[in-house]
Amino acid sequence: MKVPKLAVVMALFVMHVYAQLSPTADDVIDMTYLLTPETLHWPGLTGFNYTRISRGPVNMAAGWFEDNDFCGQEHQGTHMDAPAHFSKGKWRLHDIPPHRFFGPAVRIDISSQTAQNNEYNLKVEDVQKWEKENGPIPDNSILFIYTGWGKHHDNRTAYYGYGSADSWLDANGNPLLHFPAVSEDAAKWISSNKKIAGIGTDGPSVGPSKTMMAHVPLLEKNIFSLESVANLDKLATTGDAVAALPVNVKDGSGAPVRIVAFKKAQFKPGPDDVIDLTYALSNETVMWPGRNPFQLFVLDRGLVNLGNNTVWLEQNRFCTPEHAGTHLDAPAHFIKGSWRTHDIPAHTLIGPAVRVDMSKKAENNSDAVLTVQDLEEWEKENGRIPDNAMVFLHTGWGKFFTDFEKYLGSTNRTNWLNDEGQPLVHYPGFSEAAAKWLVNNRNINGIGSDTISYDAGQTTSFPAHVAFLGAKKLALENVANLDKLPNTGTTAFVFHMLYKDGSGAPTRVVAIKNSAITAGQVSSGVDIRPMFVALMMPFFLIFFRCI
Ligand SMILES: [Zn+2]
Ligand SMILES: [Zn+2]
Repeated sequence: MKVPKLAVVMALFVMHVYAQLSPTADDVIDMTYLLTPETLHWPGLTGFNYTRISRGPVNMAAGWFEDNDFCGQEHQGTHMDAPAHFSKGKWRLHDIPPHRFFGPAVRIDISSQTAQNNEYNLKVEDVQKWEKENGPIPDNSILFIYTGWGKHHDNRTAYYGYGSADSWLDANGNPLLHFPAVSEDAAKWISSNKKIAGIGTDGPSVGPSKTMMAHVPLLEKNIFSLESVANLDKLATTGDAVAALPVNVKDGSGAPVRIVAFKKAQFKPGPDDVIDLTYALSNETVMWPGRNPFQLFVLDRGLVNLGNNTVWLEQNRFCTPEHAGTHLDAPAHFIKGSWRTHDIPAHTLIGPAVRVDMSKKAENNSDAVLTVQDLEEWEKENGRIPDNAMVFLHTGWGKFFTDFEKYLGSTNRTNWLNDEGQPLVHYPGFSEAAAKWLVNNRNINGIGSDTISYDAGQTTSFPAHVAFLGAKKLALENVANLDKLPNTGTTAFVFHMLYKDGSGAPTRVVAIKNSAITAGQVSSGVDIRPMFVALMMPFFLIFFRCI
C-alpha cells in the first residue's frame, strides 16, 4: 500500500506545479508608467485629466466617498496600439483575441547604439544577432526593444527629441521628432519572419521618428505595439513572461495598457484557454443612475499624409466615470486615507480565480444575497478557497448588462434612492456576513461580481463595500462572462488602468486556465512541461496500475 500512496502524492505534486499563480512582489516587474495630468502626451494632442466628483465625508457607509471622472487619450503613457491604428479594416482594440496578451517576453537591447545616436532604429541585423546568441524568438512572444529612453520619460525635449507640445509635423507634414525606435526594414522583416503577438518600446513610439512607417507592416499582420513601456532595464533578455492587458475600449485604435512581467512563470494560452471577464466600454455602457456616460471621441479615422506617405490613421479620445463598465473599486472609494489606484501592489493583481454560483438562488429573487452557509457549502464541494484568490460572485445578472432597467431593477435613470431615502435598485450581492467571513477567515486578494455593485441593491449601508475595501481587497463590478468561468482551475489577472489618485479604474479582467500556465522560469524556446511529464511518467504508471 505504500507505493500507491507515494504515487498519489507525486501525481498531486505534478498537478500543483502547473496550478494557479500567486506571485510575490519579487516575482513581478510592473512595466507601466503611472499616468498623471503631468504625463507627457504626443505633441498636438490633449493629455490625461480628471474631474473630482467627490472626495470627502458623507453620511453613508464608512463615512467617506471618493469618485472621479477622467478624460484620456488612447495613445498616452504606457499604451497599446491596436492594428486598426495604422491599418484599415484590421483589429480594433476590442477585436484582439485576449490570448495574445500573454506570452514569453523577449528583450533586444539597443541602448548602447542609441547612446551614440538618438535616432538609432532597430536593424534586421540586431534581431539576427540576438537570435544567434539566444535562440529563435519564440512564437507568440512580445518583443521589447530596450532603447534606454525610459530615463527621459519626464523630459519632453529629450523624450520626443522636440520641445513643442503643440505640433509634431512641419509645414510639409514631415515629423519633427527625434527618438530611437524600429526601422521600417526591421518591422518588415519581423512581421514576415516571426510569429510574435506584439512589439514594445520604452520610447514614445515604434516609429521611426522620421516617418512612423514601422507601424504599418507590424499592424497589418495584427501585431500590436506597446509604447512608453516602463522598466525595460529590469526585464531579462529572455526567460521572463509577460501579460499586457489594455483597457477594453470598443472600437479603440489603442488604449492605456497595464504590462506586468513575470520572473517565475510562463504562459502559453491558446484561444480556448482564456476567458475575458471584461465588457468593452462604449457609449452604450450602462452606468449608475445619474452618472455621466462613457464617450468615445473620434479624432482621426481615415487617410492622412505623413511626409511622402499616405497612411490610414485611427485615433480617439475618451471620457468616462472611473466606475464604469468592468472596473475596480480602490479602497479609497469608501475608506478615508486608504489606497487609491496607484497604491495597490502589482503582484496582488494576480491570483487563483474562484467562482461562486448563486444564479439559481437569484433567479426568482433579485434581492437575494450570498450567505456564509453558501460559502461553506461551496467549499465542501470545491475545496477551501485558496490563498490570494479572486472570488467571483456569479449571480446571472450578466445577461441583463445591456438593459438598464433589468440590470438595475429600476426605471429611474437619475436617482437610486426614492424621496424617503429607500433604494430603488434591485440586484443580488454579498451579504454583510459573507463579506466579513471572507475577509476574516480566508486570505483572498479580492472579489468581483457580475452586477453593478457587489453589495445587493437593497442596502444603503454598503456593508460589503465597507468590509472588502476596509480590508484593502480588490473589488470588481460589472464582471463579464462569469457563466463561462469554471468554479476552480483558472488564474485571474486583474489589471486596472494605472493612474494617480483614482478611487477606481477601468480594469481588464482575464482568467487563464491553469493548464496554460507553467510555474518556474524557463529559457527561450524551451518548454519544461514535456520534460517534467516524462520524468514523472514512472510514478503515473505506478499510480494507474494500482487503481
Ligand atoms: Zn500609440
Ligand atoms: Zn465602483
